[in-house]
Amino acid sequence: MTSQDYIALEDRHGAHNYHPLPVVLKEGRGVYLYDVEGKQYFDFLSAYSAVNQGHCHPRIVGALKRQAELLTLTSRAFHNDQLGPYKQYLTEYFHFDKVLPMNTGAEAVETAIKICRKWGYEVKGIPRDKARIIVCGQNFHGRTTTIISFSSDPNAKGNFGPYTPGFESVPYGDLEALRRKLADDPATIAGVLVEPIQGEAGVFVPEDNYIPEVAAACREQNVLFIADEIQTGVGRTGALLRVCGDCSCTGHCERQATYTRPDVLILGKALSGGTYPVSAVLADDAVMHVIQPGQHGSTFGGNPVACAVAREALEVVRDEKLTQNARRLGEIFRARMQELVEQYPATLRLVRGKGLLNALVINDSPESDTAWNLCMALADRGLLAKPTHGNIIRFAPPLVISEAELTEACDIIGQAIADL
Ligand code: PLP
Repeated sequence: MTSQDYIALEDRHGAHNYHPLPVVLKEGRGVYLYDVEGKQYFDFLSAYSAVNQGHCHPRIVGALKRQAELLTLTSRAFHNDQLGPYKQYLTEYFHFDKVLPMNTGAEAVETAIKICRKWGYEVKGIPRDKARIIVCGQNFHGRTTTIISFSSDPNAKGNFGPYTPGFESVPYGDLEALRRKLADDPATIAGVLVEPIQGEAGVFVPEDNYIPEVAAACREQNVLFIADEIQTGVGRTGALLRVCGDCSCTGHCERQATYTRPDVLILGKALSGGTYPVSAVLADDAVMHVIQPGQHGSTFGGNPVACAVAREALEVVRDEKLTQNARRLGEIFRARMQELVEQYPATLRLVRGKGLLNALVINDSPESDTAWNLCMALADRGLLAKPTHGNIIRFAPPLVISEAELTEACDIIGQAIADL
């Protein structure tokens, strides 16, 4: 079968809820993907930053295989021998008392919202059903009904109402607006939910003081600071977490001046290196204790395969110093892209990002198809990337990429732009 045959099958039998580039992939190794015709591509999306450790990392696949042959699922009706060691490993890795394991990112965000509301009622003393959670404009936290209820994207939200109440939005990056909101009846505010960099929105990087100031403002009003690091976490931005600021040590960096500790940390995607759906919500006892048996869960959450895979995936991040690689190569990438922005001002507006989470903003309207056409030209030349919000192209290769590979990829991007 050809690529066209596979695409036609998907179109005929599947809901049309995505608009993929017309490539059909069948194999992945490190930073490379291969289509059904055998063409090789650089992967510059990494499954929306899930494949930080590179495609089919032998250690992670090995952990998957070993565990899959022993025990795959017990449900949480019983214990299994992977969950305890994984919980210990994960909580020590990120320095929180407790973890609540889930599968997808959206589920973990839902979990954090439930924990936050329950904490609001039972610890903070918010009157029944009055809890408010503050979110940011242009956020992306997933696709469930509650999460899209506080999205500002009409396409994500339209005709999916009635919406879940209890969420109020302030512009992203605007500390004054947040402080004003927090001063308005703070006794009913349970939490503030923030992406430390807005990935889906187009890689919007707030001022360096934004996250520390959000956390401080939350502390002042006894409100939980919830960091959604599903896309930014696990080394992607050149720090283990984006809340680590500009510190790229692979361990926990609580002693670092730049570290801002969230009350609730949400992880997903690269927690498993893209090998298996694994997400997690981390918090200390004072918050996590509000969840008691029967109040939250998931058949697959914390299953033995997920635990084995995630543990190996995190070990790979540490052993291969992926955080440091992301930081160093991110700087090289942005410098190369900046040269292109200066060389082709009619085509390119700017480059922005942190570590290996970057975006090139195309000098055209979000309604134009310039970014899409550039992505098609890149695919032709052997590099896969995808536009977001019309005129923004996100570039997020696996963090295992070498400097030579990055240089080659930058050359491809430069050629595609020159020929556009
Ligand atoms: N939160 C953020 C910041 C994300 O980037 C994403 C996915 O892109 C999600 C949540 C949702 O994750 P999932 O697609 O695994 O549900």
